[in-house]
Amino acid sequence: MFAFDNSYARLPERFYTKMGPAPVASPAWVALNEGLARDLGLDPEGLRGAVDVFAGNRAPEGAEPLAQLYAGHQFGGWSPQLGDGRALLLGEHVGPTGRVDVQLKGSGPTPYSRMGDGRAALGPVIREYIVSEAMHALGVPTTRALAAVTTGETVLRQDGPLPGGVLTRIAASHIRVGTFQVFASRQDTDALQTLLDHAIARHAPEADGPLGLLRHVMGVQADLVAQWMGLGFIHGVMNTDNMTISGETIDYGPCAFMEVYHPEMVFSSIDQFGRYAWKNQPDIALWNLAQLATALLPLMGDRAQAVEDATEVLDGFRGLYTVAWTRVLGAKIGVVDMALGHELLDIMAEGQADFTNTFRALTVAPETARDQVTNQDRFDGWFSRWRAAAPDQGAMTRANPALIPRNHQVEAAIQAAYGGDFAPFHALNAALADPWQETETNAPYRRPAAPDERVTHTFCGT
Ligand code: AMP
Ligand code: MG
Repeated sequence: MFAFDNSYARLPERFYTKMGPAPVASPAWVALNEGLARDLGLDPEGLRGAVDVFAGNRAPEGAEPLAQLYAGHQFGGWSPQLGDGRALLLGEHVGPTGRVDVQLKGSGPTPYSRMGDGRAALGPVIREYIVSEAMHALGVPTTRALAAVTTGETVLRQDGPLPGGVLTRIAASHIRVGTFQVFASRQDTDALQTLLDHAIARHAPEADGPLGLLRHVMGVQADLVAQWMGLGFIHGVMNTDNMTISGETIDYGPCAFMEVYHPEMVFSSIDQFGRYAWKNQPDIALWNLAQLATALLPLMGDRAQAVEDATEVLDGFRGLYTVAWTRVLGAKIGVVDMALGHELLDIMAEGQADFTNTFRALTVAPETARDQVTNQDRFDGWFSRWRAAAPDQGAMTRANPALIPRNHQVEAAIQAAYGGDFAPFHALNAALADPWQETETNAPYRRPAAPDERVTHTFCGT
């Protein structure tokens, strides 16, 4: 089924715990991502017949399931041991797109489960499926969803019992900033060196040593966060264990796309102080990269010199980010003029504008963009200056989607699924697969939430 070659399983034993998934009562399909399966060189028919594999009831040939160890800073506080508490890496599939991790999420308890049950409720499985696939269609590096199944079991959550689910996640790898941190905090320099070599071989073969890897991760993360910002995406839980070395978006817990634009917007119910607000994301990325740099110091020789060198490299982040953000915002307004771009964002914040629909209106029917804001006088002044700058419509068309996963639609799909109806989930997925044009079928998904439909809080995917 998969063409496994499990390089992570060949790393030293202290990198993981080898163990199989805990079987579930009664697996049933929610979705198989046939397009992704084909891209990976897998036969959708064959996968379709193997629901037991995607529920964790049977290990596919060549799998060497394991729970990965990591640590991390969560909301700025240090957690010395995290790890896959409800996930298992089945193995690494090598196909036409290269080497990818195949991971089950919701596959049962592991030594890293802490107080958790190792399971996932169906809702978060559906949320991750929808939003990660939408991210991919929007052109943003992300982990993917290959499959979602129900387990026939219930899990207990705050709101009571909920149907359980398992997601099969595909990723370039699951190596996180927190994977480096765990070995640094244990002063296990050998493991750190082994992880560095592994990560470089996998993600940055051209990188020279720890500083080379740091530079690489800074580059991919600057690009990634700039893309998030340009779509109004709020990750919600940018802890160091949720930041990949590959530069893919990972962990779709309390994430959300903004509708009404405000730079200080936060959705996550556990983000009390707005640490991971939209506008803070570039700074948080840098903060996380500084943790990566700190973890790499023991591999950089003389301590004082290493600190100086790492600091110098980190100082380059703001420049990298500014270049990436200039490209993104410049494409969104079709003019590479940051003063003009930021003024529009100001007007949008003051004018209660829908983030997606304002940029899209400016792209497809510019005069109608003024209807998106309440402060139209201020908008008109901006608009004539923007027009005079001869915006590049082509760039705007490629930068401003018609569609993003709107929270109330995602919630509606989840609630319907809890009631046994997966049609809204499939319809939303199908619409989000082509976010770059207005169609009759995607019209309902382009409409912002009415005040009584607004989702103001999102929750971690537990
Ligand atoms: P997250 O907030 O999703 O990044 O998860 C943080 C940590 O909590 C990770 O180590 C997860 O494996 C663990 N975790 C989250 N939910 C559960 C669960 N239901 N059972 C066991 N561990 C969990
Ligand atoms: Mg996580």
